Amino acid sequence: MRIILIGPPGAGKGTQAGRIVDSYRLAHLSTGDILRVAVEAKSDFGLLAEKYMLSGQFVPDNVIIDIISERLVSPDCQNGFLLDGFPRNLPQVSALDEMLQSNGTPLDVVIELRVPDQELYRRLSVRGRADDKNDVIRNRLSDYAKQTEPLLKHYDKQSLLKTIDGQGDVITIFERIKKTLDKFI
Ligand code: AMP
Repeated sequence: MRIILIGPPGAGKGTQAGRIVDSYRLAHLSTGDILRVAVEAKSDFGLLAEKYMLSGQFVPDNVIIDIISERLVSPDCQNGFLLDGFPRNLPQVSALDEMLQSNGTPLDVVIELRVPDQELYRRLSVRGRADDKNDVIRNRLSDYAKQTEPLLKHYDKQSLLKTIDGQGDVITIFERIKKTLDKFI
């Protein structure tokens, strides 16, 4: 199964992604996690990424696209994968479409986790990650609205989009996701 999980910061993507990849034995490709590991390791690209991440800005597309194109052809992705945090804008969507086409691995489904803004602010302000400061949260939510929401239209046109209510407890939300994903196995 090949899935994209889309949702604003604070929607619970990371938590649900973990459950999905365990249940369906998929590779978990989280660009945020990959970047945070690089930042921690203080690699050249980690140091570059850190500047953008701390201010809540997108890391440049070419960096992100290179990471993903390398990972998609690695052995652990051959039985399916879940993309979490990528693509995040239309140039990344085009790059992904090309990669998947040339690898002969079309997507099965795009899951959108939908949570109202008010609830996102509340969740993010108690999470306390380095990029969860108030003004940074505002940046990240407005980037999502401007850059990521158009993706939903793109995938809806391809009849790939399934929107899931991201409010409620973790288990209830996962049950909703499972109901959708079980149709693709
Ligand atoms: P996340 O954990 O997905 O919220 O990502 C944390 C941060 O990593 C974001 O605020 C961006 O700075 C950066 N990042 C993660 N994924 C991407 C992406 N696909 N494109 C650009 N920047 C990204």
